[in-house]
Amino acid sequence: MSKYVCIDHFSHPEIIEYIESENNRKDYCSYCNHSAELVISIKKISDYARKIIEQEYELFENSSHFSDGYNPYDNDKDVAITTFELIEYYFYIDFDDKAIVEDMAQSINEEFWAYKHELESPPDENAIGRWSEFCKYAKHIGRYTLLNDKSKWAHSIFEIGLITAELDMHIDLPVGSKIIRARQHTALDILESFSDLTSTPNEHAIYPNRMSPAGISMFYGSFDKETAFKEVFNLYDLNTKDSITFGEFEVEKELTLLNLSQVPEEKLLDTHLFQKRFLNHFASLISKPIKNDGLQHLEYIPTQVLTEYFRYVFKGISGIQYDGIMYKSSKVENKDCLVLFLDHEMSKQYLKLTGTSRHKFDDISGFNL
Ligand SMILES: [Zn+2]
Repeated sequence: MSKYVCIDHFSHPEIIEYIESENNRKDYCSYCNHSAELVISIKKISDYARKIIEQEYELFENSSHFSDGYNPYDNDKDVAITTFELIEYYFYIDFDDKAIVEDMAQSINEEFWAYKHELESPPDENAIGRWSEFCKYAKHIGRYTLLNDKSKWAHSIFEIGLITAELDMHIDLPVGSKIIRARQHTALDILESFSDLTSTPNEHAIYPNRMSPAGISMFYGSFDKETAFKEVFNLYDLNTKDSITFGEFEVEKELTLLNLSQVPEEKLLDTHLFQKRFLNHFASLISKPIKNDGLQHLEYIPTQVLTEYFRYVFKGISGIQYDGIMYKSSKVENKDCLVLFLDHEMSKQYLKLTGTSRHKFDDISGFNL
């Protein structure tokens, strides 16, 4: 006899929405044993669960672990997961409702699953997923040819680019928008002109940054003074560079930024799951504090490659032009920063300097050093 389960046993908003949208009838719930508002057949909710599972998992017997000879019962290897565990993981069903999970697992009628490795990393952070594979490739194998037509990455990175367009992940900076840049310098330096405060000339861009390698200058900025200050301030330079000058810039030609400050949330059933995860990794790596440990030239390669992709390649094939990227500040919570694909010369066409202010570090007490 087919069983029915009522909506009260579920807490995940997307699952509740699904049950409601399926226009399921008022009937007897086989688990709380009374007539309930909305019920769904175990068969139907299990089919839905299977779709969710299949986004990230494949049947163990179809996986490479199986062909590699792994035994799914061998817990030490930790490569197989049961249908029961996956339903628990995705559905957050209450412990008292174990019978529902058991009946759903029985309806799905598969025992073991394995993570699909061509997808993004699983919830377990230690697993090697697509993002770490990408970073490894960019750092150690072929950063310059990675986006070449025939590379295995070209297609998936292009898809990721398209998702940013499909999900409207852009933000426009209209004419008149304010951007703040800060520079830490010696007491003798006087910075007052546009050229003093805009992006460094390429020949002086000798340090790699999260998004720009040495030799390629970009315009990094923030939307408020505190963030601008904290993003550039270096305590170890304080002995010599005890002054800071802020430059306030105004946008003169509208700019469109790829907004990585807010990557759209993953859904339980999500056709863009992999791309969103990949973008989330990209976004969080950009917003990680910079470590001056000598490894920057290596650690920044993946984000530099993707930035260059969005700057040149993506524009060429999609017609969508990003002039920069907005991302979360690594130093101030809930504040954003931006990088514009504008070097010293190009910045003159898009921005003007509307004001400057100069401080000694002793003055900047408001920023809680
Ligand atoms: Zn019930």
